[in-house]
Amino acid sequence: MVSITEQTAILAKYLDLNQNGKVLAEYVWIDAEGNTRSKCKTLNKKPSTVDDLPEWNFDGSSTGQAPGHDSDVYLRPVAFYNDPFRKGDNIIVLTECWNNDGTPNKFNHRHECAKLMKAHADEEVWFGLEQEYTLFDQYDQPYAWPKGGFPAPQGPYYCGVGTGKVYARDVIEAHYRACLHAGVEISGINAEVMPSQWEFQVGPCEGINMGDELWIARYLLQRVAEEFGVKISFHPKPLKGDWNGAGCHTNVSTKSMRAPGGMKDIESALSKLAKRHKEHLLLYGADNDMRLTGRHETASMEAFSSGVANRGASVRIPRSVAKEGFGYFEDRRPASNIDPYLVTGIMVETICGSIPDADMFKEYARETSD
Ligand code: ADP
Ligand code: MN
Ligand code: MN
Ligand code: MN
Repeated sequence: MVSITEQTAILAKYLDLNQNGKVLAEYVWIDAEGNTRSKCKTLNKKPSTVDDLPEWNFDGSSTGQAPGHDSDVYLRPVAFYNDPFRKGDNIIVLTECWNNDGTPNKFNHRHECAKLMKAHADEEVWFGLEQEYTLFDQYDQPYAWPKGGFPAPQGPYYCGVGTGKVYARDVIEAHYRACLHAGVEISGINAEVMPSQWEFQVGPCEGINMGDELWIARYLLQRVAEEFGVKISFHPKPLKGDWNGAGCHTNVSTKSMRAPGGMKDIESALSKLAKRHKEHLLLYGADNDMRLTGRHETASMEAFSSGVANRGASVRIPRSVAKEGFGYFEDRRPASNIDPYLVTGIMVETICGSIPDADMFKEYARETSD
């Protein structure tokens, strides 16, 4: 047996080899469980636009995305990023899944979302997502928690500094750098309230880019964590008891909200959101009822609420926004395990208006039937 240090040294010899002009393209897709999967393809040259990238396919019967007798699912490239693992000209390709009969695959919510984003492109809708997540070790124990016991109660861990107050900073730092290299608009990171829970923020991103970049940031996190032997959970309440859940706060603004006087547009958006509270919650992540209890900095699911600087409301208007009279608002309801295409899609549908050929509910129903 060679040691891990020796293995790393051996692998390094091969990573330095000339690729003879070929480019490795890691095709990423979203599977039936909301995880990412990927496989690699050799290209003869680096693409200049996404249209240069060939369509590909995979065996959907192995991922629960197609029946065995008609198993091909097609991968249509929609965006590509620099590959922080292979580096050089190598790329990571985000794809949409399509069925053999020309319809979007059951879990492809991007397709419908993109139509809404395109229809409302002139409103220049920006999003910023705060992705919270929890680290587990290879035995499925919360990462670095005492064996068979619990760490001290919450308090010192949020943005914590020092031994016993913060865990796995190396994983988080590596992920941050990987996102920057890839070209993901990562805007910050912080340690969360529960020990071994962290957050990264992506945004502001306009329209469909928000979902794309969040999915790639999640993919990069899984890849980095894999190297450290750490597991990532996006479950909204990974541990029962007096431990914070995990959300994906969704910050939103339109062009008019960002301009002086934009507060009236924010208020009008909030009254539209209040009317569709239940519909939104259906798309805001599985098991979110375990998290939205009215405790641990959440609002209960029963009724929509909003308030300036109120972290116990469904929607918070940041203090600085209220002061200036324009800016953005934060929807605190989405869970950490959302599909960002469903959430940004219904957000635009509600605040900017529905369009005849796109319906985020139809999308959601397509996923949850059978
Ligand atoms: P919190 O105080 O809720 O923890 P964070 O700093 O974690 O806030 O996240 C704020 C998010 O808001 C960031 O992702 C940022 O990109 C996003 N954001 C800032 N301005 C806007 C805007 N005008 N429209 C949409 N999102 C915005
Ligand atoms: Mn935050
Ligand atoms: Mn947070
Ligand atoms: Mn927040």
